[in-house]
Amino acid sequence: MATAVSTEVRWQVRAACRGRHASVFFPPSSTERSDVRADREQRAKAVCARCPVRRPCLDFAVRTCEAHGIWGGLTELERHAGPGKPPGLLQDV
Ligand code: SF4
Repeated sequence: MATAVSTEVRWQVRAACRGRHASVFFPPSSTERSDVRADREQRAKAVCARCPVRRPCLDFAVRTCEAHGIWGGLTELERHAGPGKPPGLLQDV
């Protein structure tokens, strides 16, 4: 019988970020300059852009209210964009 955990494991083993350093996908615990953050987020998004499990990754992050990091190619601010968000933000994934 499939469980929620086994479903999560199935997509995670195909993740393009698997084995990469988490510091690309998550901000440091200390302050991060805006230009450094923009560069880091672009590098993470480039990995996500070629990831075969981008949609389930994003669905997981939204469903579990992940507060930090790049998931499914979106930053925390982009994931939590409410009404009035840029058109197609989530539809393009
Ligand atoms: S979409 Fe990005 S963060 Fe999600 S599994 Fe793929 S590479 Fe990792």
